Amino acid sequence: ASVWSTVPQGPPDAILGITEAFKKDSNSEKINLGVGAYRDDKGKPYVLPSVKQAEQKVMQQNLDKEYAGITGVPDFTKAAALLAYGPNSAPLKEGRVAITQSISGTGALRIGGAFLQRFYPGAKAIYIPTPSWANHKAVFLDSGLEVKQYRYYDKSTIGLDFDGMVADIKAMPKGSIILLHACAHNPTGVDPTEEQWKKISDAVKEGEHYPFFDMAYQGFASGDTDKDAFALRYFVEQGHTPCLAQSFAKNMGLYGERVGAFSIVTATKEEKVKVDSQVKILVRPLYSNPPVHGARIASTILNDAELNKQWLGEVKDMAERIIKMRALLKENLEKLGSKRAWNHITDQIGMFAYTGLTAEQMTKLAEEHSVYATKDGRISVAGITSGNVGRLAEAIYKITG
Ligand code: PMP
Repeated sequence: ASVWSTVPQGPPDAILGITEAFKKDSNSEKINLGVGAYRDDKGKPYVLPSVKQAEQKVMQQNLDKEYAGITGVPDFTKAAALLAYGPNSAPLKEGRVAITQSISGTGALRIGGAFLQRFYPGAKAIYIPTPSWANHKAVFLDSGLEVKQYRYYDKSTIGLDFDGMVADIKAMPKGSIILLHACAHNPTGVDPTEEQWKKISDAVKEGEHYPFFDMAYQGFASGDTDKDAFALRYFVEQGHTPCLAQSFAKNMGLYGERVGAFSIVTATKEEKVKVDSQVKILVRPLYSNPPVHGARIASTILNDAELNKQWLGEVKDMAERIIKMRALLKENLEKLGSKRAWNHITDQIGMFAYTGLTAEQMTKLAEEHSVYATKDGRISVAGITSGNVGRLAEAIYKITG
């Protein structure tokens, strides 16, 4: 037998399968709501003007292509931490936030998983919400952590199961690691309110749990980077010392450039120095050091007052287009006379909407109406345009009655 004859065939990636089916469809009005990437109102991928300008500035500097240090481009990570934790952050002011550049958000989560696996003094298990981003489980399992779950989404309300969530946090063994989506929960689009976050913080504190924030959509949810950082900043104010995975894929549209950061709030400056040293030891054999180009673009945007202002406006525009598409979809469904309540479409936030449609209905949507999205009923609102929202609403109306 050949060397690899015993390798079993793995299942295809759920999202890639949708893209394949979409490509094969000859309907000229087909709609792809599977991918988690922003599209403009013409349905086209979008490069932010601020990114184009920053890239020009980077090119003009004629920089060399030498390696960055293990933890990346310092101007970038410094600005990334400031964006996340805010200018009034005590740990930032006191120099007790360890940070490293990462291969976007996924890489940040992976470094975090590995760091916790190696150094977390409590149980090496992480609790993720049900449901969560499909990759969370795999990332943390591959980091050597055990993956457990807590209640999050309530099917009956298509909203947050707040009581279930808090009850599960309270029932976790003392000192458990808990993963929290900082904003724009993927896949449900359901976020706790600020009042609920406060209670969640209390419950996490009471259990002496360790919060790990995944912030893949800062600014992309509400259009305001400060507002979207509320949960993280509130937790820090309350004395938690969380760790954080940041991604610039969505809010800067830097998807393929792989720009992200992983940071850990420590109790003291001395602790920070030690944590830094161990993050380096961890990253070195993983990928040695991160790519520089995207980080230079992000750094230019974050560190140039004018470009930064422009970028914040562009993030807001993207968020607002998504919010508008949610409203239009709901409005169109109501106009068609749908007897269902569609409030959740506009209550939810961020790139995705959890429609509440069943797997069978999603299959029908694809087969009979050429509308493609994941079987869990999640649609990427970023794929909706003023041109296709009418047809989308009709399709959903036809399969739901
Ligand atoms: N976390 C969540 C919740 C996400 O939705 C995503 C992107 N789909 C990521 C992390 C990471 O993405 P990336 O590696 O492209 O930054």
